[in-house]
Amino acid sequence: MGCTQVSRMLPVIDLAPAPPARAAYDVLAPAPELAEFATDDIALPRFHVWTLGCQMNHSDSEEMAGALAAAGCAEAADLESADLIVINSCAIREAAEQKVIGRMGHLANLRRANPALRVVLTGCSVRTDNAATLKRRYPEVDLFLRPDEEPELTARLGLAGATAPGLMVGAQREVGAQREVGAQREVGAQREVCAIRRQSATSAWLPIIYGCDKTCTYCIVPFSRGPERSRPFDEVVDEARSLAARGYREVTLLGQNVNSYGHDLPAEARFGEVQTGRHLGRQLDLDGRPDMAALLRTIDGLRTDDGVPAISRLRFVTSHPWDLSQRLIAAMADCPSVCEHLHLPVQSGDDTVLRRMGRQYSVAAYLELVERLRAAVPGISLTTDVIVGFCGETEAQFEQTLELLRQVRFETVFAAAFSVRPGTPAAKLEDDVPKAEKKRRLQALLDLQEGIGLEANRGWVGRSTEVLVDQERPPSTHADGYGGPRLAGRNRSNKLVHFDGPVELIGSLVSVRVEHAGPYALVGSLDG
Ligand code: SF4
Repeated sequence: MGCTQVSRMLPVIDLAPAPPARAAYDVLAPAPELAEFATDDIALPRFHVWTLGCQMNHSDSEEMAGALAAAGCAEAADLESADLIVINSCAIREAAEQKVIGRMGHLANLRRANPALRVVLTGCSVRTDNAATLKRRYPEVDLFLRPDEEPELTARLGLAGATAPGLMVGAQREVGAQREVGAQREVGAQREVCAIRRQSATSAWLPIIYGCDKTCTYCIVPFSRGPERSRPFDEVVDEARSLAARGYREVTLLGQNVNSYGHDLPAEARFGEVQTGRHLGRQLDLDGRPDMAALLRTIDGLRTDDGVPAISRLRFVTSHPWDLSQRLIAAMADCPSVCEHLHLPVQSGDDTVLRRMGRQYSVAAYLELVERLRAAVPGISLTTDVIVGFCGETEAQFEQTLELLRQVRFETVFAAAFSVRPGTPAAKLEDDVPKAEKKRRLQALLDLQEGIGLEANRGWVGRSTEVLVDQERPPSTHADGYGGPRLAGRNRSNKLVHFDGPVELIGSLVSVRVEHAGPYALVGSLDG
């Protein structure tokens, strides 16, 4: 498949875990080594990027912020102090779009106070098929960019002129608390240097595949992000190596369907051992092409001088059951850096609903995957996405979903009530589950899952677990009178763990003994 567009996004959207702690700054000046390129500080807008939705959007926003910083713009802490607002939107549900529409009045007020204000809207809300309606829905937006047009942001704003170092290969870029060499990303047929302003100095997103080829009838992503396009294997490995060299402890490989990585890349002799076909969904010729298993094994194989994995933790989101091959499961089991956690969206526990959703697997096939994962990676933490109240879902079919949750015992379920997305195949089906009933089903599912999640978390009490510390909790949340810093981070199973300790620990891997469990997080003390 040819690479013709750039687009990125995941379906997890506003239910995704919170991003890592943002670097502590109000306004960031451009990197000093870019000073010689600066044109006129006063003329350059201060920008603020407002990101909604999934990890892929957050990763895209890091690139847009990096490009603006590389063009010499400073970053503003909030919408109110910005001259340029970039809204990276999410369209997976109507509620996500309403969040932006609901801000139009506020943006109009800001423009009255600052007539120089410019507003850019990008992300999944901007598509070719809805171009005619955008200005009516978002009257305060000056420039609409489809996701594949995001690399044009600075040029379209007139900020990428001859003085813009964003066009220089290997230019040093400001990246939050630290600097990094601009990563090279394959974009269509051309190579592009991306400036990336990362939000964390500890954990990094690494996009490896863009778009989606799947057939889910409720989803707008294939329309907004185009078909699947994988980044070249060596380029991804080089970027992982570079992240390791700069001290990133955790790397998350990103894609709408991350585990279908490589099917569109050319076959090569060095991948001759890849002779695996899909068992679910549309059949593909995967022989001789790089796949996720090869990628995980190669990145896991990067070593420090001491012989330990150069990247301590490797994760990947989001997986589709179609491409969870036995090769991939074996790589997860064999690679010490790959975390014992998988987010595997199931969406429904009923075959008829799954068929109507276009998911192209059965509940039995999903359960078989779960069994194989648990056999290969004992103790693996599984999380999932569920949609309740999809078109035609009966009470009995909903009950099947609850039954699936009881059976699999996911650690976390990101659940949402179905909302029709104009332009998707499901928009032609009857949205016949009343709103109140969707709400009731959603609450019933959340109530059930709360008990399951709590029970799973209680299993951690009394155990020590490795936590990658990435945030300091605000003092105002200390209800118990504790006066010192309260830190938080995730363990390898992706559990949020709170504990007390010095802020210097942020960015390190520490051992925490778990003392209490809630349905959504663990609380403990530093070991030793
Ligand atoms: Fe949407 Fe399905 Fe593709 Fe996920 S796999 S992005 S839900 S079409």
